[in-house]
Amino acid sequence: MARWRLQSRGRRHRLHMKGQGFLRRSWFAELRHKREREDPPAGNGKGNGVTVPPSVSKPLYGDRRLRLNPNKAHKPDKYDDVQSEFDPSIFSSLERHLPPSLLEAPRDSKLEFMREILARYLPEGERARVQRHKEYRQRIMSAYQVENFEKWVNAVKFKTMRPNTMNKFGAVLDDFGLEAMLNKLMEEFICPFSRVLFPEVGGSTLDSHHGFIVEYGKDKDIKLDFHVDDSEVTLNVCLGKQFSGGELFFRGVRCDQHVNSETQLEEILEYSHVPGQAVLHRGRHRHGARPTTSGHRINLLLWCRSSAFREMKKYQKDFSSWCGECQREKKVRQRQCLDTTKTAFLRMGGP
Ligand SMILES: [Zn+2]
Repeated sequence: MARWRLQSRGRRHRLHMKGQGFLRRSWFAELRHKREREDPPAGNGKGNGVTVPPSVSKPLYGDRRLRLNPNKAHKPDKYDDVQSEFDPSIFSSLERHLPPSLLEAPRDSKLEFMREILARYLPEGERARVQRHKEYRQRIMSAYQVENFEKWVNAVKFKTMRPNTMNKFGAVLDDFGLEAMLNKLMEEFICPFSRVLFPEVGGSTLDSHHGFIVEYGKDKDIKLDFHVDDSEVTLNVCLGKQFSGGELFFRGVRCDQHVNSETQLEEILEYSHVPGQAVLHRGRHRHGARPTTSGHRINLLLWCRSSAFREMKKYQKDFSSWCGECQREKKVRQRQCLDTTKTAFLRMGGP
């Protein structure tokens, strides 16, 4: 019964598995049918002429239990295309633990079985949270009507403001009447983080923003060249949809003067987008996006700015508290200074 209750509680969770509703129903119908077949009809010894077909199924419980040791010889299916709160590699690993009778089953049946098992291990609150995020992402994409807006622009040849100087595809969200909402997002969500994480670049005094959506894929922008943002702190949310490629590469934080300086080995950082997840980084963190090789990727960007920080910057020359190159130069200067002092000291004490 726990399984049914779980299934009922997890209804919302199931809804996003498009096209699998039938499969799931049929799975449970089959399970119920199997149970009925396994219960031998009681008191059938009266000889009423009805032949009871012998049960053909194996014991249900043992048949459906995961194996403790993985079947290492089994080559699992690939689940990379599966939309789930779990990483696709989990399904491939778990497949080796499936009961032998299921190992050669169609991928969809195995997937359904594993989803059901995994659902039991994900706390209810977490599952609801994941689903809420997914629904919200879809709502953003449909509510903002990015695609329809694009079509309309093309139809009327109306010149709209592009999100920034580098992206041709996308739309400025502030133009859609979302300015107040995005301001609230900045003040109530981003500020508390950036105050702690990026105080040296004005993270505690953010006071304006520029919010936009960018699109990548076939007939859209393919990649984004290496650059810094016109922001102090950038929030980059991946809204979907399905795509491959499009990884972000980061190469160290730089001030205006050092924006083209060499990258140090420890500054090399790569990040793969996950729909529903976001990156928060300093605007001056040099970065770019690799080509989106297939599918369609939509990201929401919020550039947050601090007028106080920008004003203060005019009077400063050294940004070693956040610029990697200023920091490196400062260390070199300190080492030279130390060497000079050491040499002078040795000369004084020498013969
Ligand atoms: Zn610098």
